[in-house]
Amino acid sequence: MSRFLNENLKGLKEYTPGEQPQDKKYIKLNTNESPYPPSKEVVEAVNENEVKDLRLYCDPECSKLKSALAKLYNVKTENVFLSNGSDDILNFSFLAFGQNGVAFADITYGFYSVFADLYSLEKEIIPLNDDFTLNKQAFMNKNKLTVIANPNAPTGITLSLNEIEKIVESNKQNVVLIDEAYVDFGGESAISLTEKYDNLLCVGTFSKSRSMAGARLGFAIANKEIIADLEKIKYSTNPYNINRLTQVAGLAAVKSNNYFMENCKKIIKTREYTAKTLKELNFEVLDSKSNFLFAKHKSLGGKEFYLSLKEKGVLVRHFETERIKDFVRITIGSFEEMQVFLDKTKEILGE
Ligand SMILES: *Cc1c(COP(=O)(O)O)cnc(C)c1O
Repeated sequence: MSRFLNENLKGLKEYTPGEQPQDKKYIKLNTNESPYPPSKEVVEAVNENEVKDLRLYCDPECSKLKSALAKLYNVKTENVFLSNGSDDILNFSFLAFGQNGVAFADITYGFYSVFADLYSLEKEIIPLNDDFTLNKQAFMNKNKLTVIANPNAPTGITLSLNEIEKIVESNKQNVVLIDEAYVDFGGESAISLTEKYDNLLCVGTFSKSRSMAGARLGFAIANKEIIADLEKIKYSTNPYNINRLTQVAGLAAVKSNNYFMENCKKIIKTREYTAKTLKELNFEVLDSKSNFLFAKHKSLGGKEFYLSLKEKGVLVRHFETERIKDFVRITIGSFEEMQVFLDKTKEILGE
């Protein structure tokens, strides 16, 4: 830390991303990436001509991509916001809508707390129930920005559309942000409710179900006034925040949406197989509707399991947080990768 850093930032505890080791090749089951590459349409779209055009600024409105997404989700372009990853949209949302404070679960995406701290927002941290489900009553009538990951991370547990609607309905005085990073793996999107509720903000990403974590593309769908607020912040920080190649890749990805949704089906199938096998090996496995499992062994500690796997070339994610320190979060890779993970797990357990 330099002696020049602003006072209000000195205590800020930044987000810790999952490891992205560059030293050796791991089976990477730690940051919820897709095991499948983007569609061939995406690969072809990012061609020589597009690279040559990098000398030009990109379209700050992302018009083509925005229209395609609007069509895909059956909304108007005025209801769509695009940004450099959904983390960017969360950042903007906390800045734009957080003045009365922000409510979120104790066990959820770690970035919510960081953004709240970055803007010195008051945090109301609502404990999940003992079984790691969301305490729905506690998310009603908040009068402050209310943020829910659905499905939740790192638990994978989901709320139904009906449950989301009740929460949105009771929070007319504030924005309810539903982070749908994992919704394509078996959750129910709340996008259809954005027409009815002007306080609902749905946030999505191309990083997980659409195999484009490295491209950095996130989107939000909401009432046009909320979208205009987010645009105001984007145009006050970095109007060109989605680069040319990502816009082109994103458009191709929307056009080949079926390919990605087929991949999700494969991942769901692999998830169910992996969960069943882990349970047979004496793991408690939470009911996941995402592309990861959150699991805890009857006797092996979370950190020990994580370290043993790492030694054997398999990376999973472990969190030091007290309530979940016995768990590890395992991204669902290809069937073959999960077979290796399960074999290594059996070795570690001495089976
Ligand atoms: C991965 C993830 C994000 C961030 O996605 P990017 O679009 O890659 O920034 C947001 N929310 C949750 C819950 C996530 O797991």
